[in-house]
Amino acid sequence: MSKKKLTTTGGAPIASNQHSKTAGQRGPVLLEDYQLIEKLAHQNRERIPERVVHAKGWGAQGTLTITHDITKYTSAKIFDTIGKQTPMLARFSTVAGEQGAADAERDVRGFALKFYTEEGNWDLVGNNTPVFFIRDGYKFPDFIRTQKRHPKTNLRSPEAMWDFWSLVPESLHQVTILMSDRGIPVGPQYMNGYGSHTFSFYNKEGERYWVKFHFKTQQGHKHYTNEESVKVIGKSRETFQEELYGSIEKGDFPKWKMYVQIMPEMDAEKTSYNPFDLTKVWPHSDYPLIEVGELELNKNPDNYFQYIENAAFSPSNVVPGIGFSPDKVLQSRIFSYADAHRYRLGTHYEALPANKPVSEVNHYHKDGSMRFFDNNSGNPDAYYEPNSFNGPVEDESFAEPPMRISGDATRYGNETDDDFTQPGNLFRMFNDEQKQRLFNNIAEAMDGVSEEIIERQLKLFDKADPAYGAGVRKALGMVVA
Ligand code: NDP
Repeated sequence: MSKKKLTTTGGAPIASNQHSKTAGQRGPVLLEDYQLIEKLAHQNRERIPERVVHAKGWGAQGTLTITHDITKYTSAKIFDTIGKQTPMLARFSTVAGEQGAADAERDVRGFALKFYTEEGNWDLVGNNTPVFFIRDGYKFPDFIRTQKRHPKTNLRSPEAMWDFWSLVPESLHQVTILMSDRGIPVGPQYMNGYGSHTFSFYNKEGERYWVKFHFKTQQGHKHYTNEESVKVIGKSRETFQEELYGSIEKGDFPKWKMYVQIMPEMDAEKTSYNPFDLTKVWPHSDYPLIEVGELELNKNPDNYFQYIENAAFSPSNVVPGIGFSPDKVLQSRIFSYADAHRYRLGTHYEALPANKPVSEVNHYHKDGSMRFFDNNSGNPDAYYEPNSFNGPVEDESFAEPPMRISGDATRYGNETDDDFTQPGNLFRMFNDEQKQRLFNNIAEAMDGVSEEIIERQLKLFDKADPAYGAGVRKALGMVVA
């Protein structure tokens, strides 16, 4: 087979890709050697800013297949027929580490899904945990500072982490999950995924329901202990990539069963916990899991950078039949994710192959970086709206029903002080070995932290369950009465 011709980015054939152009055999390189300049300039521009959070990631392409009928809750077309298959992209990540960080670290994992539906992209940008450390996006930048490097030492700071967690009791639920067995998964396919936030569904009759999304691993949960992870990282820093990429290459496709929990709209005023609080779950006994479908990852992208590094997930991407909720962290992320991508990738980032919807895209946003797509209105005179030139128009039939939960605007504090019942429930679910590993993991993570901060945190464990505080004290070598 004849090989393709090597060219400049301008398409001109290249005669030599081996030597720069010099004035004489032993003379200096000429400025006119554009091939050399182009090659070096491209290398200088190979990196884009890494994500401030979730920088280290692994991903694949796949399919969501609908297996059960939930059309009484939502008119979203992705769910309209049993057997329907929608192409999708998944990206998993650690939260705190930079792009070169080791995969087998104790951290929450991002679990981001992009579904290319016939009515636009639906992004579910969740985690491998059903809750998060904070219930208000206002605290997010401060929380993330405590997970990243100290400004002077340039090291991660357990002092900052435990200081923040001990001063913000709403973090206890997520801290308990993070320090539990599930804190270091073996690979993306061995963990559950959760939409984490409460979203809403609305059906053809305009009835709204609150919804939580769950993806349960079909490979079984597999996790490393602290000791195992030290050995694993000593051998390879890329274990998640190896696990995910390797199993897909072998044809061993990872699968998750998709479920929803559904809450009728006005129940939100009655539950003992705030159903929009991201530090809380909805107990399964109150709102059971309803099976929806199966997610399968079955293709490694041909180019990691193009499809995984350039993937831009945002909770702002919802489709008709799916809406937001008053969850304060969700509300902040609706702004901040799309904003991060405009900064990191460029104005028209949604036209990149990883992000491009399969449905028609018609808008009047104009120029800016990456305006490489055509005038898609079909008529160059239709470049504003309203216009008389047959440009795209709105369609009232997609109007969302009004959200009935609202009140007076102010900066509301916590509704109740109950940051302890649910972490306590989780703790009481663990058997003795799981509890002991939790105590040990916490004691190890507290190494070097000031006594005052440790004491403050121990009081929070006590409030969740006295045996929780006692167990951590013992693991820390303290005398327990
Ligand atoms: P259930 O007894 O009905 O379910 C327990 C849940 O806990 C299961 O979903 C299980 O996941 C999950 N789980 C088990 N071990 C861990 C762990 N180390 N870290 C995180 N999750 C774990 O419980 P309830 O609904 O009554 O809730 C009890 C507690 O379970 C909650 O306070 C919460 O901490 C936790 N939980 C609840 C979830 C919910 O949506 N209700 C979701 C996840 C956790 P699996 O089935 O895959 O083993």
